[in-house]
Order: sequence, then structure tokens, then C-alpha cells
Amino acid sequence: MDACVQPGLLPVNEAIARILAALKPITATENVSLMDCLDRVLAENVIAPINVPGGDNSAMDGYALRHSDVHEELIVIGEAFAGHPFSGAIAAGQAVRIMTGGLVPAGADTVVMQENVTRHENKILINTRPDSGENIRRAGEDIAQESLVLSKGHLLTALDIGLLASLGIHQVNVFQRIKIALLTTGDELLMPGAPHQTGKIYDSNRPLLYALLKRLPVDVLDLGVVPDNPDSLRAAFLAAQQFADMVISTGGVSVGDADYTKDILAELGEINFWKIAMKPGKPFAFGLLGKNAQARATDCWFCGLPGNPVSTAVTYHQLVVPALRYLAGEIPAEPLVIKAVAIKTLKKQPGRMDFQRGIFSASNGVNSVSSAGLQSSGVLSGMGKANCYIRLAAERGTVTEGEIVDVVLFDRFIR
Ligand code: AMP
Ligand code: MG
Repeated sequence: MDACVQPGLLPVNEAIARILAALKPITATENVSLMDCLDRVLAENVIAPINVPGGDNSAMDGYALRHSDVHEELIVIGEAFAGHPFSGAIAAGQAVRIMTGGLVPAGADTVVMQENVTRHENKILINTRPDSGENIRRAGEDIAQESLVLSKGHLLTALDIGLLASLGIHQVNVFQRIKIALLTTGDELLMPGAPHQTGKIYDSNRPLLYALLKRLPVDVLDLGVVPDNPDSLRAAFLAAQQFADMVISTGGVSVGDADYTKDILAELGEINFWKIAMKPGKPFAFGLLGKNAQARATDCWFCGLPGNPVSTAVTYHQLVVPALRYLAGEIPAEPLVIKAVAIKTLKKQPGRMDFQRGIFSASNGVNSVSSAGLQSSGVLSGMGKANCYIRLAAERGTVTEGEIVDVVLFDRFIR
């Protein structure tokens, strides 16, 4: 454990390592159409079945010819359009009219762009001498046949889909979506849309998490708000574990809370209640809720997030997203950390790693960052304005203006 962390608190990286060590990624796969594989995780390596491009072709509209002939007047003997190759071959003193994407005819080694040519009937004169091999896109220059294109465990992007299409691939083998059960706990929670009542608050965590989970290859069962009583909680968790690979709940995990969530979880599964050295989001529960539950072949894991909405969002992003991506078959990757100058003081107590919400900008070649406003864990409005975390190591104290700090830009998993 990190010596500079408050005693009894688990450092963030250690919490993530423990979670990943416990989880067993999904192994079930399915074939899906290329058109439906966005944001799915590849379950196999993709090897290029063909060269892309398939043959040498022209990068310009112009004339294909032999470079050794460019000083002469050449006779145009045919055409090569994209999709319509020239069937013959070029001999000395000959050229072929060629369009972008047209296959370079046999015998030709160079393409001259049409702007550099004077044409008179079927004859051309070259005004600007090209380099040998100019304007030719070589076979396999983009992707070589038999090369590894994408690896197992890769989350497919729109660009990947374009790439796979260029290889003629119309179906991919991906991991099945993992199943998530989502619930929030608290007698104070009202559904958005219900009339407001004194002493109650609207449940913002469930719509927030439901929306964020859409970014991941998961199916979500929304179990709604569960009141703070043992029977309701037990029934909700038992229902959830029949369906889910992971149950995500918010609320009721605070230290010293006399609520029932912890008791019921301890009764039903092997759940650890951790105090994590992070701010916001100290309390966090993780563990196994149902091992090989009767109706299921796989384990059901549990992540219990703190109830304050900012704590919910930050712990979800820092701890649950890596867990879900790993469970869904992805290869874990470290976040990209960039350096920026703090343009104002950032208050901090030593002891926990801070994930302050910041506004990053890069202007005139300088990376700078400032606080996105109130850093209280109940204030969701400040987080909405932020575009990054200012990640401050557990041991450090207040950051003074002008110091260099670590910034991690918000990614699509939190926006
Ligand atoms: P808890 O973790 O249950 O002790 O809750 C901590 C704080 O977060 C309390 O002020 C709760 O009212 C608030 N809270 C809990 N759950 C939610 C929720 N689903 N939406 C908004 N606020 C919540
Ligand atoms: Mg509560």
C-alpha cells in the first residue's frame, strides 16, 4: 500500500487491480453484421484476407505511362477508369488515360496528373517531368494481405468498421453483451416526473448511469428505486442476480450508515466494503453477489457506489468502467495523462487521490487547466461544465497557481 495514503484507505490503482484480478471476462461470442458491430468487443484477431488496395492504382486523374518516355510525345491508346481496368499493356511511346482509383495498366510505372499535360487529339506532351512511380498507390500499401488488422479484445469504432469493410468483411465475431442490473436505493428518492415533495429528492443517479451504460456493450435491466428496507432490498438483489453479470447500485454504502444495503449484501454474497483513497467517492462496495446462481452459468458481481451524484459519476468512471470493459472482453488500457499548468490555486488535503473536475484548454501552445467550479460531491452542475479530471496524487496538498498537474480528458464513457 502507498505509504502516503491515509491508513485504512485503499489506493485507487490497487482497488482497480483487485477488481480486475477477481473478474472473469465473458467468453460467450456471437457473429454480428458489420453494420451492427459499433462499440462491440472483438472476440477474434482479424487477419487481412486481401491486399488493400488490391492492385497498383492511380492517385490522380491523368495519364499512365513509362517514366523513360516522358520526354516524348505519347499516343493515348486507351482508358483505365475506377472499376474498369485497361485490358492491354503499354509499350514504348504509349500512354493510357487514367482516373483516380483506376488500375495502373501493365507496362506503366508512373502517372502524370492531367494538369501537367497538353493533349491534342490522341497525343499528349508532358509539361512537368514527374518522378518515377509518382501518383501510384501501391497494392497492399494500406493493409497487406495476411497482416494483423485488429486484435481480439479491441472495442470497435466507426473507423474500424470502415477498415473492415475495405477488406470485404461483412460479419465479425464479438463477445456477447454483458448483462447489468441497475438500481438506486433511498427512501428519499422520487422518480423524475413525479410531483415534488418536501424532504424528497429526484433520483438523478439512475438516469445518469443508465445513459452512461449505453456507451458500453451491455444490456441493462432497470430495477428502479429500492426503498431502504431489508425485504425490498433482499428481493431486488435476488432478482438482479438471476439476470445480471453485474449489479450496480447507488447509495447505502457510506461508512457508519445504519442502512440495510450493507447487511443484505453481506448476507447474500461475498462483498467487500472498501474505503478508497479517492475524492470524491470514498465508500465503495465490490464483490460476488451470486456465484453460479441457479438460473445462470456465470457469476454475478456487485458494485455499490456512493449516493452523492458526483461521487456516483466519478466512482463509476474510475472503478466501474474499467471493470465493465474488462468483463466485456476488452484489453485494459491506462488512461492518457497530459500535463497542464494550473491557472488558479486548487485546494487539496493530503491523503486521498483527488479527481477534481476541471476545464482544460490548449491555446497558444500552452496546456492550461482550471477548476470547473464547486467541487462538492453533491454538485452535479459543476461536473457538467468540466471537460477533464485534474488528477492529484494522494500525498500532495494544495496546488499553487502555475504548478504543472496531471489532466485526464473526459472520454465518451463519462459524457
Ligand atoms: P447515501 O450514499 O445513500 O448515504 O447517500 C448520500 C447522499 O446522496 C444523500 O444526500 C442522498 O440523498 C444522495 N443520493 C443518494 N442516492 C441518490 C440518487 N439516486 N440520486 C440523487 N441523490 C442521491
Ligand atoms: Mg441512502
